Formats: sequence, C-alpha cells, structure tokens
Amino acid sequence: MPIYEYICNSCREKFSRLQSVRESREGIDCPKCSSGDTKKLISSFCCSGGDSGLSSSGHSHSHGGGGG
Ligand SMILES: [Zn+2]
Repeated sequence: MPIYEYICNSCREKFSRLQSVRESREGIDCPKCSSGDTKKLISSFCCSGGDSGLSSSGHSHSHGGGGG
C-alpha cells in the first residue's frame, strides 16, 4: 500500500496518509487543524544504482603428500 504525503496550506503541516482504494478521492483533511485545504505531495523514489560485478576468486591448492 503506497503512502502519499500531504501538506496543509493552512498550517503547513506535512503528514503522510495511506492511499487506500476506498479513499481514492481527493481532499484529505489535515489532522492538525482539520483543514480541507491540503495538497498532495509528489514523492519521488530514487533507486540507488548498484554496481553489478561479481568477482569470484578462489584457488584451492591440494597438497599431495606421499608417505612412504
Ligand atoms: Zn493544517
């Protein structure tokens, strides 16, 4: 369930709210001043680029000893 951020234009209060299917309507009341003048903020997800490079190094030395 995605969480959207809202900001109140009345008291400039930022709050997050779960965007449910039922609550797909616009117009979220501010939990602080109960004002309907709120605006939904656009939250941009930034995906961290990961360098893909698997370096596997492993040399196994087997010593063969022959005891006489
Ligand atoms: Zn408010």
